[in-house]
Amino acid sequence: MNEINPSGWRPAMRESGVPASAIETFTGNRALQLEEALIFEIGNLEHCGVDFDEDDFDETLLGGLPSRRSAPVDLPGLTEPEAVRHYTRLSRQNYAIDLGLFPLGSCTMKHNPRLDEKVARMPGFADVHPLQPQSTVQGALKVMNELAQWLITLTGMHGVAMTPKAGAHGELCGLLCIRAALEARGDAREVILVPESAHGTNPATAAFAGYRVENIPATADGRVDVAALTARLGPDVAGVMITNPNTCGLFERDLKTISDAVHAAGGFVYCDGANFNAIVGRVRPGDLGVDAMHINLHKTFSTPHGGGGPGSGPVVLSEALAPYGPLPFTARQADGTVHLVEEETAAEEGHGQAFGRMCAFHGQMGMYTRALAYILSHGADGLRQVSGDAVLNANYVLRSLDDVLDAPFGAAGPCMHEALFSDDGFAEGFSTLDLAKGLIDEGFHPMTVYFPLVVHGAMLVEPTETESKRSLDQFIGAMRSLAERARAGDEALKSAPHLAPRRRLDETLAARKPKLVWKT
Ligand SMILES: *Cc1c(COP(=O)(O)O)cnc(C)c1O
Repeated sequence: MNEINPSGWRPAMRESGVPASAIETFTGNRALQLEEALIFEIGNLEHCGVDFDEDDFDETLLGGLPSRRSAPVDLPGLTEPEAVRHYTRLSRQNYAIDLGLFPLGSCTMKHNPRLDEKVARMPGFADVHPLQPQSTVQGALKVMNELAQWLITLTGMHGVAMTPKAGAHGELCGLLCIRAALEARGDAREVILVPESAHGTNPATAAFAGYRVENIPATADGRVDVAALTARLGPDVAGVMITNPNTCGLFERDLKTISDAVHAAGGFVYCDGANFNAIVGRVRPGDLGVDAMHINLHKTFSTPHGGGGPGSGPVVLSEALAPYGPLPFTARQADGTVHLVEEETAAEEGHGQAFGRMCAFHGQMGMYTRALAYILSHGADGLRQVSGDAVLNANYVLRSLDDVLDAPFGAAGPCMHEALFSDDGFAEGFSTLDLAKGLIDEGFHPMTVYFPLVVHGAMLVEPTETESKRSLDQFIGAMRSLAERARAGDEALKSAPHLAPRRRLDETLAARKPKLVWKT
């Protein structure tokens, strides 16, 4: 596929199963959809984007070490226009939230307001260095401190650890706080209870933190089985990790009952707060007895986070856990200045029990500025409307599709911010994957598939509050059409996508055995 023919043109892409209507072209391009070779195939060392000075390198500088390469460096050389075109062509093959609705469940892919981007790029925030004297970065420290206060207020908690760099990192921070609190009272407990529907990071984090993970079953209505959970509590259980709203898109109504039972048994309650977008401004996790909860700033409070980054996962903490939270953190002083509580002064400032630190410096400044800009531009009432609209949009999707797609918990009432469907009712041999791939031909990114695991062939759709009725209707129309094709057994759906630059790839092989060098 990557062979270049003698004329330098790449051969037209010919793959079996392409519908007759897809005209093949000499170049392999299809109008604005441009075939692009690997950078190593189009570049060579004869080309360069800059003029270098004559080589007058002083050979003695390296103290006799070999200073000249014996072989070419083997990097692809490109002129500036070649480099610009290469990356621009590749970027056009990406789906993006700026192109259309991004239905990934559990990810909160919402529009990122441009105001937040502008604020994050202000030189006073973007160009500060973590080792600058604190007196020279008061503005940045005040942003961190004010954001921390907002997160504490919105969640009804006692303190917050700002430094974790993603949701999963926050989970680890929360569990380390729990372990420190247990150790402080000489109580070695080794089990963390996790519901079956949990995001994969929950059991992974608990195992990484050295705990044994035990699953708690779900009830028929998609919620934690409270009876099973309370029956398992005992002196070996350090805590539970519960997502609320859960990954079936349902509110865990019994969380307060669960928290009371866990506390009575001497354990702690970790809440996975990745779905905070559904409840912000309406529910305070602190009121539900939560001891630690991460907030994915990049999800709920806007930061473009496709492609695995960047992220920020502050962890709000209860009064019982706050003393063990990591260093450093910001503290406002009587004269109005903000300073960082670090190891040197932690003990005398009453924070001698901190379990350690989560990262080298102070966390993700760019996400702090975006999140605070987002919060201040919405205000408390605007944040409340965010969760209301997010839930309304998800219910609109759920009810617009539940006659053509099975909604496993649809009969139980409204959902929260995510609509969950299963593959029940598809024709023999048709799967969730077929529908998801068909969505690519319709111009959408696929939804989250096969998660949560408690539903067969799960499809999890989170439209978020930033979609208009018009864009929701377009998505619903595409989903209805695909659902009907999957039910009717339309064979063409099995080889979708037909209109994308690539067809079905072996995603498992790509993930398990990625080819990271182009030549061996
Ligand atoms: C996204 C998510 C996480 C992990 O957050 P990261 O920032 O990706 O590490 C954990 N739990 C749930 C439910 C999530 O949706």
